[in-house]
Amino acid sequence: MNRGNDTHDIRSHATTDAEGRSAVGIHDGADRAREGVAGTHAGAARIPRHHSIVPPYLLAAIAATDDPRFQNASHAAKVSLVRDGVRFDEPNPLTRNPQPRSARPRSATPGLPERTIADAQGRETLPGEVVRREGEPPTDDVSVNEAYDGLGATFELFWDVYNRDSIDGKGLPLDATVHYGEQYDNAFWDGERMVFGDGDGEVFTRFTIAIDVIGHELTHGVTQFTANLVYEGQSGALNESVSDVFGSLVAQFAKRQTADQASWLIGEGLFTDEVQGIALRSLKAPGTAYDDDVLGKDPQPAHMRDYDDTTADSGGVHINSGIPNHAFYLVATAIGGAAWEKAGQIWYDALTGDDLAARADFSRFAKVTTDAAARRYGDDAAETDAVRAAWLAVGVVADE
Ligand SMILES: [Zn+2]
Repeated sequence: MNRGNDTHDIRSHATTDAEGRSAVGIHDGADRAREGVAGTHAGAARIPRHHSIVPPYLLAAIAATDDPRFQNASHAAKVSLVRDGVRFDEPNPLTRNPQPRSARPRSATPGLPERTIADAQGRETLPGEVVRREGEPPTDDVSVNEAYDGLGATFELFWDVYNRDSIDGKGLPLDATVHYGEQYDNAFWDGERMVFGDGDGEVFTRFTIAIDVIGHELTHGVTQFTANLVYEGQSGALNESVSDVFGSLVAQFAKRQTADQASWLIGEGLFTDEVQGIALRSLKAPGTAYDDDVLGKDPQPAHMRDYDDTTADSGGVHINSGIPNHAFYLVATAIGGAAWEKAGQIWYDALTGDDLAARADFSRFAKVTTDAAARRYGDDAAETDAVRAAWLAVGVVADE
C-alpha cells in the first residue's frame, strides 16, 4: 500500500479530544463504529462481547482510506466494525460465571480433542452447517481444514505440555465456524466458539491462515476459565498478552521451533502483499509489525516509558500488551531452548494459579510470574533471574 507522492497518512488524522485522550480520526460511517468499539465518549469503557484478533483502531484506519484501490477493503472494514460494534451492549459472557458451560458434554477420552467445524456460508448466523467432525478426513475447503488443524494444534500444546484437557481443563469440545459474514475482516472467540471471516482480499486474507491467531483466540477461553482477567486497561492488556504468548507458543510447538528460531509474530500471513507489514504484532520487537500508509504504524510499545494511556481500544488492550509480550520474549530467549517448556510453564502457572486477580495490573503480574518461577525452579535459579530481569528491562519493575 505505497501510494508514492500523494501519500495521505492516516496518522495525520490523529486527534486529541477535550479530555486529552487521543484517537485516530476516521470518517463517516466508521465514526459510529469507533464510538461503539472504543467507547471513547461513553465514560466507563464498554467491554466487548467477543475478543477479536484485529484491533478496532486498525479496522478504523482501513475504513478511513480514500485510496480507490482499497475501496472494497474500506467498505469491508466499515461493515466489520459496525458488526463488531453492535454486539457491545449485550452481556459479556467472558465475565459471567462459566459454570453453566461445565454442564456441556465432555470429550469422551481425556487428552483427545473433540472438534466440530461449521460453515456459515457467508451469513452471520451461528453456528452454521456442520461440515467436519472429529476424526473425519479433510474436506476440499482449505478454511475448514485450517480451522480443524489449528484447534488441534492448540489442544495439543495445552495437553502435551501443560496437561490441560482442552480450554476449560475438562475436555470442552472445540467448536468453530468458518466463512462467517461477507468479507468479514476478523476472527473472534465469542465465549463458546471460534468464528473466522474470509477477509476482504485487499488488506486481509482468510483468518484461518495463521495458526497463532487460532491459538490466541482459544487462549482467551483458557483465561476465561482461569484468571478471567478483566478486558480493560492493564488487566485487559494482560489478557491480550497471555493470548499472544500462548498463540505464539502454539505455532512454535507445532513447528518444534526453539525460542531463537521462532518468528514471534502474531498473524503472519494475514496481510495481502499490498500491505507494508509482516503481521499484526511482534513479541520480539513490538511496534515493528507493520508501517503502512493506510494502516499506519504498529502502535505497540515495548517499554513502560511508552505506555499509551488511552481510553480507546478498551484502554489500549491491543496496544500496551506489547510490554508484557516483550517481557515474555526476553524471558524465553534468556532461558533458551523451547519457549513452551520453562518460560511457557511459568506463565501458565501464573495464569492458572490462585495469585492472579481478575483486575491484576502489570506490576502484579510481574510479581506473580516471578513467584511462580521461584516456586518451580528456586528463588536463586537462572529461570527466576530471567523473569526478574525481563520485568526490569521493560520498565514494569523499577531498579532498586
Ligand atoms: Zn485477543
